[in-house]
Amino acid sequence: MSNWSLLTEFAALLLVIILLSSLAIYKKRITHSLKLFGTCLVLSGCSIVLNMICVILLKHRRLIPGGINVLANSLYFWLVVLLTSVTAMYIFEKMLEHVYDQYCIVRARRMLVSFVSLYTVLIFVNLKAGVLFWFDSGGNYHRGILNGAGYGVMLLEMMFLYICFFRHRSSVSREMKHALKLFPPVVITLVAMQLINQGLLLNGIIVAFVDTILFISFFSQRRENDSVTGAGNRNAFYSELAYRVAGKQKFQVLLVVPRDFGAINQRYGHQTGNEFLYAVVLWLEETYREAAVYRYIGVTFAVIFPYSDSALADRYARELEERFEQPWVIGQYEETITAAFGSMVHTGGDQEEDQMMELLDYLLSLAKHSGQKHIHFGREVKERFLRARMVADTVRRAVKEQLFEVWYQPVYSPEKGCYYSAEALVRLRDGEGGFLSPDEFIPVAEGIGVVSNIFWQVLGEVCRFIKRNPDLPVGTISVNMSMEQFEEPDLPRRIQRLLGAWDIAPQKIKFEITERVISEDAVQVQKVIHEMEEFGFRFYLDDFGIGYSNFASVAEYHFESIKLDKSLVGITEKAEKGYNIVCGLISLFHEMGMEVIAEGVETAGQSETLTSMGADKIQGFYYARPMPGAELVKFRG
Ligand code: C2E
Ligand code: MG
Ligand code: MG
Repeated sequence: MSNWSLLTEFAALLLVIILLSSLAIYKKRITHSLKLFGTCLVLSGCSIVLNMICVILLKHRRLIPGGINVLANSLYFWLVVLLTSVTAMYIFEKMLEHVYDQYCIVRARRMLVSFVSLYTVLIFVNLKAGVLFWFDSGGNYHRGILNGAGYGVMLLEMMFLYICFFRHRSSVSREMKHALKLFPPVVITLVAMQLINQGLLLNGIIVAFVDTILFISFFSQRRENDSVTGAGNRNAFYSELAYRVAGKQKFQVLLVVPRDFGAINQRYGHQTGNEFLYAVVLWLEETYREAAVYRYIGVTFAVIFPYSDSALADRYARELEERFEQPWVIGQYEETITAAFGSMVHTGGDQEEDQMMELLDYLLSLAKHSGQKHIHFGREVKERFLRARMVADTVRRAVKEQLFEVWYQPVYSPEKGCYYSAEALVRLRDGEGGFLSPDEFIPVAEGIGVVSNIFWQVLGEVCRFIKRNPDLPVGTISVNMSMEQFEEPDLPRRIQRLLGAWDIAPQKIKFEITERVISEDAVQVQKVIHEMEEFGFRFYLDDFGIGYSNFASVAEYHFESIKLDKSLVGITEKAEKGYNIVCGLISLFHEMGMEVIAEGVETAGQSETLTSMGADKIQGFYYARPMPGAELVKFRG
């Protein structure tokens, strides 16, 4: 026994030291898991060193008092069991990382503590009874009848680990599965080698290999953390979600959507802005140890909480809201970060992870744009989501299969006493005999980036319609444009080419844009409008009077006509003040050299009022509703 070579133990010790020093690069962010793995490595190193000491002491047993050998070996036996138990704890925690089941972890911890305690008792018993090992009067080492008890403990722990794995395998990470696959062949091969060659000392190598497998599995991979806050990044969030959904677990996702964080960046600079974000993550992680924090997108954070009942879910949401009403302190700066919140509960059903991510994106857009402080993904939101998804699917199909129709609404000229022009309005059938409203599907088309396709389909159809029907009752047709068109390279030439191909004069088609368009990227829009005007195209300003109205910017363009929104038409009837405002607007536009079209005129009274005010054209159900092209051809009013 005393002829054991220490070479393998040296190699094992070196490997453990390399792992320990590699772990040091994570020192910026010392997590509980990192600490536990670090403890495993330190215990590994200590057990290897102690084993070497024991071997050296045995070699010089004649010089060393027997009691020291007993003490060193007892400590070594005990340390090995402690090491396997701490390593098993680390594996348990990693295995249950995506499973929120505190009870499972607590049970594992209790089991491991009792193993170590029982083994400690055995060590003391061994001092008297020599059940693990004993030394004869010549100082020679002998195995006791329970010498293999340490291996027994290890075996039991492994058994429990694999039972736990099979119970939760759908939520066990790929990395852990990989590690669990590697352990048995590696450990069995080394133990077999040890049994075949008694002169070899492989205990340290077994320990070091297990540590290496764990290190490679959990630390050497590409880090999935956000570099600013240290929270998990979007990928990490998605894989966490995937594991939890696969394991049919109950959990709650809370989205924290800071509002106007750009203002904080502007005020304090990006560096301090980042520190505010870091402070938020730190608070979340320290306050909710049971939660996992991710930087979802931009400055939005996603926090995954365990879910047991709605009371707990409400508590988390309330606490977060309350915290965000308080200021965050960074050095001498103090700032309240106003935020909106979105929450969603997964109760363990058969939901697909893709669907869950789609729901979360929808929840995020609602939290961002709805103006509400907290949006819970309940039945009503789900219905809205399903509707939006149906609309998006219908729009995508319609774009692909060119299913859009174009209807026309004639515009009346009181002065000439006839219909003067028509507006082209896109129509999309809903598959149930009705139509989807453009007010609903155009924003969806903008959101999914296909509104440009709609524009080209509508414009193409309008050209075809004008060409086929030279005797139309109206002289011009107007087509609506969205902001997206202005981002298209070469738009003016493309439009010119299309009209040229149909041999249609530019004066025949007018383009309607809203004030939102001219307020978004004024420089680009002005440039495109200017180029198009050079080709002979003219523009109408649509929906004047809702929200964005700004005279200064309107005055910078030479619109042919201004279309007063129906809300302005409505106020002419309500009060004298409203009447005066619209009257003033009309004469102001006239002075600026623009015509005025009143939209949404539904009654004879409204028509008379607006005509008397000087509106040049009138569009509304009172004169004509939007109609298919075939009807417009025959339309005579
Ligand atoms: P818009 O450009 O202001 O079009 C006028 C809308 O007012 C049309 O609604 C028309 O049907 C409606 N309308 C006309 N007269 C009356 C009336 O007397 N009373 C009431 N209550 N409504 C009246 P529609 O067709 O539902 O279109 C809604 C909006 O969708 C349009 O508002 C326009 O912003 C957008 N849109 C329609 N077609 C297109 C298109 O081809 N491209 C783009 N980008 N947007 C379009
Ligand atoms: Mg319009
Ligand atoms: Mg309008």
